[in-house]
Amino acid sequence: MVKFLADEMLGTVAKWLRILGFDTEYARDMEDYEILLKAGKEGRVLITRDAELFDRAKRRGLKAIYLPHAELDRDMKEIISVYPPEKERFMCRCTVCNSEIVEIPKKDVRGRVPEGVYERQERFWYCEKCGRIYWEGSHWEKMRSFVEEILK
Ligand SMILES: [Zn+2]
Repeated sequence: MVKFLADEMLGTVAKWLRILGFDTEYARDMEDYEILLKAGKEGRVLITRDAELFDRAKRRGLKAIYLPHAELDRDMKEIISVYPPEKERFMCRCTVCNSEIVEIPKKDVRGRVPEGVYERQERFWYCEKCGRIYWEGSHWEKMRSFVEEILK
């Protein structure tokens, strides 16, 4: 499955790519040359808002997607139409640290998530690395139907 490296301006896009199951690194505090090196070494597709960085990536023969518009829906559509996600991989990666998350029994999250969430949700996931707990909230519902619409 394709792996991504998102530039510093694409934090939200990176988060959503992770939720869709893509291994996505986020280039925080990295110089352009470091970003290009990392993309090449790890075989990651660079996603960037920076026209110059995009050109440099292409000249080096790296795969890259240029996203100049700063609109989340549009950005996601551009990426997904080239690299469609696999539904079985949805909700399997931590949005904070990019580790894989595991489903845990509902009773195990009692007291660790807001009460309303506990009452409404049936399924929960847990990141063993950073301890974050996930559930399919309303943002995810919206993104899922948006993605499914594009994949049709
Ligand atoms: Zn995590």
